Amino acid sequence: MNRVYNFAPGPSMLPLEVLEKVQSELLCYGSTGMSVMEMSHRSKMYLEIFDKTVADLKKLMNVPDGYKIMFVQGGATAMFAAVAMNLMQGGKADYIDSGNFAHNALVEAQKYGEVVIAGSSRADNYTYIPAYTLSPDAKYVHITTNNTIYGTRYTQLPDTGNVPLVADMSSNILSEVYDVSKFGVIYAGAQKNVAPAGCVILIVREDLMGNELPCTPKVMSFKKMADADSMLNTPNCFGIYVAGKTFEWLLANGGVEAMEKINIEKAKLLYDFLDESALFKGTARAADRSRMNVTFITGDADLDAKFVKEAAAQGLVNLKGHRIVGGMRASI
Ligand SMILES: *Cc1c(COP(=O)(O)O)cnc(C)c1O
Repeated sequence: MNRVYNFAPGPSMLPLEVLEKVQSELLCYGSTGMSVMEMSHRSKMYLEIFDKTVADLKKLMNVPDGYKIMFVQGGATAMFAAVAMNLMQGGKADYIDSGNFAHNALVEAQKYGEVVIAGSSRADNYTYIPAYTLSPDAKYVHITTNNTIYGTRYTQLPDTGNVPLVADMSSNILSEVYDVSKFGVIYAGAQKNVAPAGCVILIVREDLMGNELPCTPKVMSFKKMADADSMLNTPNCFGIYVAGKTFEWLLANGGVEAMEKINIEKAKLLYDFLDESALFKGTARAADRSRMNVTFITGDADLDAKFVKEAAAQGLVNLKGHRIVGGMRASI
């Protein structure tokens, strides 16, 4: 076995111990005589896996009572629509346009209500988290806590007062400590930091449920999904199971607090190197640098391509920047 250092943002590397555990249980889970892939989602055995996965996530993120933890499908992209369908109620919402996914979220939301772009760094190629002005009468404020493609992150959450804060945490969930009580909704596609692609972690404050537009598909209704405990239809059973393995691994390794410390150190090593390098240059504003996605360039596209190619030959793969920005990106 010759595993490489895979710097892809997502689907991305999982802890080797998680993969090995999954491998050891792949053909026969416990004494069930079957793989988790073959289990009914309504079976006692699977419900035990599911409930423990939810309980472990609640522990890891210190999710207060009054919030529902769900696993849904359609990726974070489905949540761009679901958030607007469930929360907009014919009113308006503030969106902070801090990157490509933030922009995709607001374009999707425009189908369901009035979107106010409260701040944007689009004109500057999203190299920083923009300043913003919030509307007091918005139904919610939407942010992307970490901008995967441009390599920026919010160092401070917006103070939204009584307006619910909605966060796409796809690319930094469980990498740093967040106070969940500051959010109305948190969602994250699992493939960046948690599990294989195909499930979304969705955490919703209970009082925000039940106001969806009548056209909302039932699998996208927060209330209906919550009432059915994520089992309104067949969930991504295997993906949720792998997420559970990652949660167990995180808990065994000191939880999110320990991960945050490691992530700060890891990012600093790389940024310090880039800052001292005569060859490379970071592309994000230093104050807003992501701890997950480190974006950099040489300033010469041919040299960038050469670097990516030679790094791959050394077992450092997927260092090419996203196709819309070029350069390099190390998702760490
Ligand atoms: C990857 C990513 C998405 C898109 O996720 P899908 O699961 O592919 O829909 C959305 N938001 C952020 C911040 C991402 O990193």
